[in-house]
Amino acid sequence: MDEPWSQTEETPCADCGALVRAGGRGFALGAEDALCWDCSLRRGGRYDAGNDVWDVAPEVTDLTSRRSDRED
Ligand SMILES: [Zn+2]
Repeated sequence: MDEPWSQTEETPCADCGALVRAGGRGFALGAEDALCWDCSLRRGGRYDAGNDVWDVAPEVTDLTSRRSDRED
């Protein structure tokens, strides 16, 4: 139902603003946002290429808390 991104969409990295292509290497941050590969690794993420999953999720609490602050 709720596709994170459409297949052809590019989403700006929530940290550095680099474009992250849907289906490419990047960390999905909620329904609309994403982290690029470099930022995901810099934030401590570890990707399991064999299983095509993030073994360790990047640290994104500063990004998500900033967002909820704005909504309050
Ligand atoms: Zn980035």
